[in-house]
Amino acid sequence: MKKVGILGFQGAFLEHEQAVRRLGHEPLVVRYPGELEEIDGLILPGGESTTMGKLLNRTGMMEPLREKIKSGMPVWGTCAGMILLAKELENDPVVHLGVMDIAVRRNAYGSQIDSFSTRGVIPAISTKELEMVFIRAPYITKVGSEVEVLYELDGHVVAAREGNMLVTSFHPELTENTSCLEYFLTMFPEN
Ligand code: GLN
Repeated sequence: MKKVGILGFQGAFLEHEQAVRRLGHEPLVVRYPGELEEIDGLILPGGESTTMGKLLNRTGMMEPLREKIKSGMPVWGTCAGMILLAKELENDPVVHLGVMDIAVRRNAYGSQIDSFSTRGVIPAISTKELEMVFIRAPYITKVGSEVEVLYELDGHVVAAREGNMLVTSFHPELTENTSCLEYFLTMFPEN
C-alpha cells in the first residue's frame, strides 16, 4: 500500500483522494511542509495555479517540494498541477516549481471552449479508451529531450512524462476511470 499525498490547498483534491482510496492505497491531503516526509508520492490537482503557487511559497513548501521532486519522488500534475511543474510558461512570467522540461500555455483552449470532454486511447496508460475532461486547460507547447509524449490532441501535447514526473492537461479524477492513477502508481519505487 502506497501513501499518496494530494496537495490540498484548493481545487479538485477530494476527487483524487477518493480515487486513491478506491484503489486500496492511503491518501494524505498535504498542506504543510512536514507532511512531505510522510508520503511516497504527490498529486498536484487541478484548480488555480497562481493561488496554489502563492500558497506553496507562503507555507514554506515550495523549496522542500522542489527538492523532493528533484531527488526522485513521483509527482503527477493534473491541469493546474502541470502548470506548477513546468520550467516555462508561455503566457505567464511566474514559474512555480519549474522542475519539468516542458513549456506550457495556460488556458490554452480559449474562452469559447473553456471546458470540453473527449475520448481517446493513451497506449502507455491503458489499451481502453478513456474520457478526458478539460477545464480551462493548459497544453504543452515544447518538450525537452528527456520528456516522453504520452498523448497529443489535435497536434498539442496533453499528457507527458519525464522520469518521476507525470502531467495531464485533463482531469481523470473527475471520471470513474482510474487508469491514469494506476499508471502513476507504477512510477512509485517498489518499497
Ligand atoms: N486555468 C487554470 C490555471 O491556469 C487551470 C485550470 C484547471 O486546473 N482546471 O491555473
